[in-house]
Amino acid sequence: MDLMEYQGKQFFAAFDIPVSPGKAVETVEDAIATANEVGYPVVVKAQVLVGGRGKAGGVKLANNEEEAREHATNILGMDIKGHTVHVVWIEHASDIAKEYYASFTLDRSAKKHLGMLSAEGGVEIEIVAEENPDAIAKIHIDPSIGLTKEQCEEWVRAAKLDDEAFEGAVDILLKLYRAYVEGDADLAEINPLILTPEGKVHALDAKVTLDENAEFRHEDWEQYKGTQVLDDREKMARDKGLNYIGLDGEIGIIGNGAGLVMSTLDVVNQVGGTPANFLDVGGGASADVLANSIEVVNSDEKVKAIFLNIFGGITKCDEVAKGVLEATERVQLKSPIVVRLDGTNVEEGRAILEANPNDMVIAAPTMIDAAKKAVELAKKA
Ligand code: GDP
Ligand code: MN
Repeated sequence: MDLMEYQGKQFFAAFDIPVSPGKAVETVEDAIATANEVGYPVVVKAQVLVGGRGKAGGVKLANNEEEAREHATNILGMDIKGHTVHVVWIEHASDIAKEYYASFTLDRSAKKHLGMLSAEGGVEIEIVAEENPDAIAKIHIDPSIGLTKEQCEEWVRAAKLDDEAFEGAVDILLKLYRAYVEGDADLAEINPLILTPEGKVHALDAKVTLDENAEFRHEDWEQYKGTQVLDDREKMARDKGLNYIGLDGEIGIIGNGAGLVMSTLDVVNQVGGTPANFLDVGGGASADVLANSIEVVNSDEKVKAIFLNIFGGITKCDEVAKGVLEATERVQLKSPIVVRLDGTNVEEGRAILEANPNDMVIAAPTMIDAAKKAVELAKKA
């Protein structure tokens, strides 16, 4: 789950990381009231879940009420890379002597946390990584040990931050690591982390991704739900309580069990197709869940064929077959469904489909046959 900057700053503040005082608002009038409250100059910042807002004109300095009004008016409603701005964050502007970059994330292949620090912040880190990779100091942190003060100091020295920034940077990085671990984040990034002319180190931006698997231990995460950007398919799936992830391909995928669904994506790829989604109906899915799943996948405009792959265990193939029939009655299928049924009650399931022939429902004997059939139908469509 990605947080907006203002939410990320609230998250940082809870771990004592210095951020500028400010407020998130939705109207020009509230923007002006906040600007007057925090004191000029202020920064007016578009709140969207996409980077590079500065370059896109979504971050502006205002020295007085008139400028605050102008910028808030322009930025609210602005489109930034396909995201409409509904909220602006107003904060007291900082004087900047230097802009640095700092982040923690997980390096899955190293099975360790990865810290990245650079004296060349402000710009996109991907650009620094490409043009001047030596300017990024990286450390791996063993999660069972954590980030020690000594390791952190060595890291800051390796990144060659300015001497005045040393103590402040060490302090913030230790706090940021704590926020990242205890706050259950997958990513905690500050870009820019600034040094002020007075020698203070301060977070000017916040990019935080929370690990949704840890949601059960964070009641306060509920507040972030409303700002998530879901596409129509994902919204529909969430409303129906389905375990769905949207992808970009043409073959709609429905299966039971995460492992089987992942293999199904692989097999579709292997025979030259592109999966449109991941959808796991789970164990013991009812006809209704099946019909809901088909409805969601069918609503995807890119989908040209649907591959329903069920290996019945707790899930019974006759229930699945009933779900397919229910779906064909409830929704106008716009692409054919290739059904591969095997396992518990497979004979009953196949019999139900045979007794109710439908041009849009095609039975296939095995997973690989079904994948090939679905890809072939998608190519013809
Ligand atoms: P991003 O472009 O989406 O990453 O948005 P940022 O929050 O990083 O802001 C972009 C740039 O605006 C920063 O790199 C700064 O150069 C500038 N900026 C942001 N806040 C302030 C501020 O308080 N004072 C000044 N002088 N510049 C700021
Ligand atoms: Mn930034």
